[in-house]
Amino acid sequence: MQDTYFIDTMGCQMNERDSETIAGVLEDLGFAPTEDMLTARVIVLNTCAVREKPVHKVFSKLGGICKLKAKRPEMIIIVAGCVAQMAPEEFRRRTPLVDIVVGPRNLSGLAEAIREATGEPSVLADTSEVIPEGLPSSREDGVNAFVNITYGCDNFCAYCIVPYTRGREQSRTPERVGAEVKQAVEAGRPEVTLLGQNVNSYRGTDEEGKSVDFPDLLALVDSADGLKRLRFTTSHPKDLSLKLLDAMRDLPTVCEHLHLPIQAGDDEVLARMGRKYTRAHYMGILQAARERMPDIAITTDVMVGFPGETEEQFERTVAAFEEIRYDQAFMFMYNDRPGTRASGFEDKVPEPVKLARLQQLVDIQNRISREKNEALLGNTYEVLVGGPDLKSPSKLRGRTRTNKLAIFTPRPVPRRAVPAAGDMVYVRAEEAFLWGFTGTEVIE
Ligand code: SF4
Repeated sequence: MQDTYFIDTMGCQMNERDSETIAGVLEDLGFAPTEDMLTARVIVLNTCAVREKPVHKVFSKLGGICKLKAKRPEMIIIVAGCVAQMAPEEFRRRTPLVDIVVGPRNLSGLAEAIREATGEPSVLADTSEVIPEGLPSSREDGVNAFVNITYGCDNFCAYCIVPYTRGREQSRTPERVGAEVKQAVEAGRPEVTLLGQNVNSYRGTDEEGKSVDFPDLLALVDSADGLKRLRFTTSHPKDLSLKLLDAMRDLPTVCEHLHLPIQAGDDEVLARMGRKYTRAHYMGILQAARERMPDIAITTDVMVGFPGETEEQFERTVAAFEEIRYDQAFMFMYNDRPGTRASGFEDKVPEPVKLARLQQLVDIQNRISREKNEALLGNTYEVLVGGPDLKSPSKLRGRTRTNKLAIFTPRPVPRRAVPAAGDMVYVRAEEAFLWGFTGTEVIE
């Protein structure tokens, strides 16, 4: 019987993309995927250090996995991701049953380490700055493919661990990005999301030595045969140019959705966070985006309770939310990340105050999201079908260009099969919910 592998992925889209690479490496070595962790020969924990108490959470999961290995010593345990990069020696010390510790910058050595996994534990968490090109990857079913355009980050925001775990920013060449997009589309992915910690600072150099910025890259990728939709994340407000907004407006596949983290609505807090933009600059970008694309969806990340945040400063974030009216927001409470500058700041906001601020903002944003989705009702939208809706399988689910979730009833059409994943349909919005709307397919 073929040996199997199981991957538990925590955290962001960068980690999801890394898990695809890890899966590809394992499949190249002859392992097959399984949903059943209990029987897997290889268990991978792809860890995240950005949110919550990361090391604690990983070690508690590992405790259970190591108990499994005590019964099945042939099992191979791999710890990957940012926690692996942050604390490689801690794994060796606290969990000797772990076979391989591999940071996000060391995936090119993974295949070799797995081959050797019957011997000494391998720790691959050096700080080399090599872009892991040419590794295999295995993507789960779906219509979207994530494609990295940069690795690492140079921004060193005061609260963030990423520059320490994923290293300094490096851009892939436009040719390599283009080739991966082409491959993904040919493999049946009509939608691609270009990924980077800060896509706006992409600086590639093509084979002729010409410098290519992010809007240029979008134009190159937009022309890929068969590509229906192009998305990107994450944008940093300090590097977002008007040239990019023009490209979003003009390039047919680029979707009208901008995810632009605000983090705080107060200039003093932004400065202490090390974000290097002001509220006025941020508002100027949104105004320019809405002038060019009036129906653009804007989403954001925000952090409440940053050390020293006063009630007045928090209220400026609330006021920014009311003024901007985001379509969605990912809202977090500040928590110390060991090794970051902010963890050494003294004026920490008490836990109950942070919780109350978070709840206040969540309530406001939920109301705004619902109102924005209610404003869509009665209109018809182009929806890329993702597949059947899991809760009501007679319905389908998909996304609009603005990334709203659409759950809809397909229309029976003589001599036409029910739309399938990857098909483009039109849906009339009939009832709003927090993340989108329900509706009915419209045959044009
Ligand atoms: S831009 Fe700031 S928050 Fe984003 S990854 Fe870089 S350091 Fe972290």
